[in-house]
Amino acid sequence: MATTSTVKEASKSDSPQARSFDALVVGAGFSGLYQLLCLRDRLGLSVQVLEAGGGVGGTWYWNRYPGARCDSESHSYCYSFSDELTKEWEWSERYPGPPEILRYLNYVADRFDLKRNIRFNTRVSSAHYDEAANLWRVNTDAGEALTAQFLITAVGCLSSANIPNISGIDTFNGRWYHTGEWPHEGVDFSGKRVGLIGTGSTGIQAAPVIAETAAHLTVFQRTANYSVPARNAPLTPEFKRYVKENAAEIRQVMQSTVNGHPFTIADRSALETPPEERQAIYEAAWEIGSLRFRAAFRDLLTDKAANDTAADFIRAKIREIVKDPATAAKLSDFDHPYAAKRPPIDTDYFETFNRDNVKLVDVRAAPIEEITPQGIRTRDAEYPLDIIVFATGFDGMTGSLLRMDIRGRDGLPLTKAWAAGPRNYLGLQVAGFPNLFTVTGPGSPSVLCNMPVAIEQHVEWITDCIAYMREHGLTRIEPKNEAVDAWVAEVNVAAEATLLPLAKHSWYLGANVPGKPRVFMPYAGGMAHYRKICADVATKDYEGFTFSG
Ligand SMILES: Cc1cc2nc3c(=O)[nH]c(=O)nc-3n(C[C@H](O)[C@H](O)[C@H](O)COP(=O)(O)OP(=O)(O)OC[C@H]3O[C@@H](n4cnc5c(N)ncnc54)[C@H](O)[C@@H]3O)c2cc1C
Repeated sequence: MATTSTVKEASKSDSPQARSFDALVVGAGFSGLYQLLCLRDRLGLSVQVLEAGGGVGGTWYWNRYPGARCDSESHSYCYSFSDELTKEWEWSERYPGPPEILRYLNYVADRFDLKRNIRFNTRVSSAHYDEAANLWRVNTDAGEALTAQFLITAVGCLSSANIPNISGIDTFNGRWYHTGEWPHEGVDFSGKRVGLIGTGSTGIQAAPVIAETAAHLTVFQRTANYSVPARNAPLTPEFKRYVKENAAEIRQVMQSTVNGHPFTIADRSALETPPEERQAIYEAAWEIGSLRFRAAFRDLLTDKAANDTAADFIRAKIREIVKDPATAAKLSDFDHPYAAKRPPIDTDYFETFNRDNVKLVDVRAAPIEEITPQGIRTRDAEYPLDIIVFATGFDGMTGSLLRMDIRGRDGLPLTKAWAAGPRNYLGLQVAGFPNLFTVTGPGSPSVLCNMPVAIEQHVEWITDCIAYMREHGLTRIEPKNEAVDAWVAEVNVAAEATLLPLAKHSWYLGANVPGKPRVFMPYAGGMAHYRKICADVATKDYEGFTFSG
């Protein structure tokens, strides 16, 4: 509950229970926590955060599946806004899992006394803009009504689980789970026949761990996926010292690179490098592991022939690791360029298929037809199962926004405004939805970036913008239509300059959700370039936006 000092009784609300704030923030993950801190402690605003989960953490509160880990390296998968926080916190592993990341986010929330302004177990069911009052009227699933001048969505790009609509799911005699809504008490696979649907980053993390305890694991693969070893390990005392002593430089690198990671992309072309030397570079990158593999050459995401060299290398590695040639062939039958979908990193994923209790089923060749009481039936066979795990990802980038019943001026639903795909300015604001800000909204680098970097940039930009409005006596901001048109065109141009749109089944394109418009959603022009665009807009008195008040 918010304290009385942060709550002003509503005077303009249509409900006697409604309470009014300067800003409502939806979501208490990395984004919502930092947005609360900035608006409350830096600007002195009254702020309430509303969070559907029972604690802070967002992604890490929900995704507690076996094998779950971040794939950004821990020393970069954290906030960088506070030198003290950076000095105080110490990660234990190269890629921590949910327990450690949740400990970190709880530490941040407690250290900055954030929880007193967060209402947990509270889902926003609608948010409607009242033009006459210049307020957002927000309702929760508990029937509460709140109002605020500013509505800031920090709902995450990957927070609406995508459960495929397979007929017969209700008839299944066993248990089924989605990885993004994993039971907090865990799932016991021992002695069970498990079916895992999906081979994206999550399926690739989960398969080896499930296989260790399950009686049998069947992996249902529609799209063969590239993966590179994560090479997870405890952090050495030397590395921990390096992180503390070089925090400013590490931050500088993250803020100046395309993807917000703590390493730069090598300035050499895969095509112009002689084959033997190229092979040696790939071998070394494979040994180091991590997302750094993608940074081995500068042209991997812009030139198909360059990308093919990485694809060939990974294909050869899979054939080397996986003993059964038919399984190796299925695992490396890629239909998209390397890293055109979110590039997974793994711990023994391909090795898992050498186990006697693991089988790969190619559901592109023989699609799943239905779930039966006993298991999963494909066109060719029925697989008896006790547990089905859906590692089928999310209604990415727009799912949580569109499920919230957001309506702008004249009651225009966001679902209608975005019927043909998301349209906004800088990924931050939608025309016709004044005073609504979307942290890591579609049209911003978001998921193409190490996300804490993208989140800090957005939160700070929004905070500065609201501070500017207060200083200038302005009460309303929204983007001009022509600025939106130009930005949507810019997002498309940036995507077309890369190989990313070639992954036709990618959630970046909305292709994993039936009926979703096929639009490339994140801004692919690079985080550093995007940061500069946003800064220039602010310097030019928020060019492209209109203010009133
Ligand atoms: C398994 C997994 C691994 C990942 N690994 C990485 C990684 O290594 N590096 C990286 O950069 N990114 C990674 N990501 C992306 C990750 O989502 C971001 O790094 C980051 O956690 C996003 O923080 P956020 O606060 O913006 O959103 P989230 O963490 O998604 O939090 C959003 C919150 O909003 C809440 N919410 C949504 N709708 C409503 C509503 N209507 N009412 C109330 N509350 C609502 C949700 O409950 C959720 O808690 C990963 C994602 C997943 C799923």
